[in-house]
Amino acid sequence: MSFTDLSIATNATMLPIQEIATKAGIPQKALELYGNYKAKIDVNSLPPITTQGQIVLVTAISPTPAGEGKSTVTVGLADAFNQLNESVIVALREPSLGPVMGMKGGATGGGFAQVLPMEDINLHFTGDIHAITSANNALSALIDNHLHQGNLLNLDPRRVAWKRVLDINDRALRQVTIGLGGPLQGVPRQDGFDITVASEIMAVLCLATSLEDLKERLAQMVIAYTYDKEPVTVRQLGVEGALTLLLKDAFKPNLVQTIEGTPAIIHGGPFANIAHGCNSLMATNTARRLADIVVTEAGFGADLGAEKFMHIKSRKGNFHPDAVVIVATVRALKMHGGVEKNQLTQPNTDAVKRGMANLAKHVDTIRQFGIEPVVALNRFTADAQDELQEVMDWAKAQGVQIALTNVWEQGGKGGLELAKLVKEELAKPKNFTMLYEETDSVEEKLRIIVQQVYGGADIQLTDSAKKKLVDLKKYGWDALPICMAKTQYSLSDQPSLHGRPEGFTITIRDIIPKLGAGFLVCLTGDIMTMPGLPKQPAALNMDVDQDGNAVGLF
Ligand code: ADP
Repeated sequence: MSFTDLSIATNATMLPIQEIATKAGIPQKALELYGNYKAKIDVNSLPPITTQGQIVLVTAISPTPAGEGKSTVTVGLADAFNQLNESVIVALREPSLGPVMGMKGGATGGGFAQVLPMEDINLHFTGDIHAITSANNALSALIDNHLHQGNLLNLDPRRVAWKRVLDINDRALRQVTIGLGGPLQGVPRQDGFDITVASEIMAVLCLATSLEDLKERLAQMVIAYTYDKEPVTVRQLGVEGALTLLLKDAFKPNLVQTIEGTPAIIHGGPFANIAHGCNSLMATNTARRLADIVVTEAGFGADLGAEKFMHIKSRKGNFHPDAVVIVATVRALKMHGGVEKNQLTQPNTDAVKRGMANLAKHVDTIRQFGIEPVVALNRFTADAQDELQEVMDWAKAQGVQIALTNVWEQGGKGGLELAKLVKEELAKPKNFTMLYEETDSVEEKLRIIVQQVYGGADIQLTDSAKKKLVDLKKYGWDALPICMAKTQYSLSDQPSLHGRPEGFTITIRDIIPKLGAGFLVCLTGDIMTMPGLPKQPAALNMDVDQDGNAVGLF
């Protein structure tokens, strides 16, 4: 019988969310129920903080269309700890409808390592992403209204930095002209849409530590420049209160469960290629005060999500990962070794060997942060024994810890070996080091990321990026961490360069200050902050039956 993620999820029995809360040490008064299986957590009603759980960060090799199963391993590892009677919570990001309708699939894990209710989580969940879309677009409307109603702040309509957003891949909206139709229809200007997960409000919500901090960060966001090229913030427009009001419920972390009843907190969902790629600080901090071990995931490969977890999230959260897991699959290693997607079922140990260079680079990157990673080799049924052995032998020869995991097929049981290795790592003292300081120059910070994390030769700034740099220095915004916007498919900025490319230069084409989030987004290569849909979008397979059940959702 063949299983799909959806069929496994629908056949699983969920516990009432109150039971999951009790297991996680969350008092009932802190629960705001969204039906029987989802709840928001009112952190103000939680018991006082007595513990700070350890953080296990799950990252991966550079992704390929063959799939790595990072969320699957994250959930499976938490279930394995649960089976070992450890106090554990898994903290994940909320899926965006962009990839759900597009090509990637959901973000709720797979097989017997999933979070539930998977169809709710993958669709509208508790409405957080919609609230962020609303807050973002309310701000756009307020800016355009300000222009229309006399423009007291002297905003230059050609220099409005705030874009509208939508949580769908819609390339037709990347550039739009608004306000057409005459004086009663507003001030005509060029605008554009980003995907909601790239909104600065998403990053702000994910990095804020309290409602007050959320409001202050929203107030600091730069929305436009005046005719004299002076920056204008949300505070000057006076709408941070309204935006915070729109976000007050979205700011509360969501509690759900895995198939095996492990508590899961899912909150916030920035992509790791165009944003900072980790679930909210609120979610991680809430999980840490409740459990001894928090298993969390950062998006895409260690060059993106993990680098940003270390340099952005850990810095803001004043913590660091206590262990790091790098997920790899034989299929993806083969693709890094030059095999086409339609040839992946053919055993090819030589290609696996070649592809290992990509894994080796990510291992090296995590070691530079002072953490010894554990590799999770996520087993697919079609993997040949000698291909798996090739990876195991490589790891042994390199002194890299590795566990073969089978959580997709077996749930937590398939991750017990991985959990054992991770537990050993958690017990060891760490010497965590950031690779750059915030006070390093922007060029220095960029160079460190490119050379030490991507393994490239150097950086190159376009003329317009150089101009931006001058402005950043002028306004004193240069002492912020970097949030690279780069393709996830390659260590370089060229998506087709698989494996471990070397000697490449990364072109920075724009630098966008995000003062509310507290980082500088640096755009590289052709990366888009509004993706497009593929020729055969996943939406073509989706339906709903007459009882209202989802069909074809992975
Ligand atoms: P990522 O987080 O790396 O994007 P996911 O965990 O979301 O990857 O998995 C992507 C898809 O691959 C899911 O549909 C999942 O069911 C499938 N998958 C993951 N691991 C396995 C495995 N070992 N065997 C079969 N399918 C898997």
